[in-house]
Amino acid sequence: MRFLKNPVILAQYLLRQILRPGGRAIDATAGNGQDTVFLASVVGNDGEVFAFDTQPLAIHRTAERLKQAGIETRVYLINAGHEKMKDYVHGLFQAVMFNLGYLPGAGKQFATRPETTVPALQQAVELLTPGGILTVVIYVGHPGALEEQKAVEEWAASLPQDKWDVIRCDYPNRINDPPYLLVVQRIDL
Ligand code: SAH
Repeated sequence: MRFLKNPVILAQYLLRQILRPGGRAIDATAGNGQDTVFLASVVGNDGEVFAFDTQPLAIHRTAERLKQAGIETRVYLINAGHEKMKDYVHGLFQAVMFNLGYLPGAGKQFATRPETTVPALQQAVELLTPGGILTVVIYVGHPGALEEQKAVEEWAASLPQDKWDVIRCDYPNRINDPPYLLVVQRIDL
């Protein structure tokens, strides 16, 4: 299996190591629903997935994709910003996924932004169960992307190392500003 193919595939590969049937997960950027469907299929009928997006179009696309996958239960679609995550979810989660940037086919003005992304990431790591994993796919090509990348990198570097392990997986031999992956695992003491 080519699990290094791109940061989304790699994120899913890592999350499969911890997320189990009956588990709980968050997709912080539903977008076109790819990650929501992935999380929902791993947790199965007894699990729960909360998927956030500010754009009604993304919520609509995600709902369609879930329907096509035959997943009618276990997913809560929330048309709100991920920076309000803690107002909508309670308890702890094995997995939280972020896929930053803009929704392909929709306006770049709706892209994720550092001032909301960083508070949302902080809430996400606090919502992880011990051993739980946060994955963040970071894009560097669009307007505003570099500011967001810088803010996310600074936030990641500031996480106390006795509470969270943090790694970055990038693609040094790939052309055209490839997206890369940041992974945070809550240390299981
Ligand atoms: N760049 C990816 C897709 C990212 S989609 C790719 O190329 O496949 C990112 C999603 O985040 C978009 O659907 C956008 O609407 C959403 N988004 C932007 N700001 C948000 C916020 N504050 N809270 C939740 N979702 C947000």
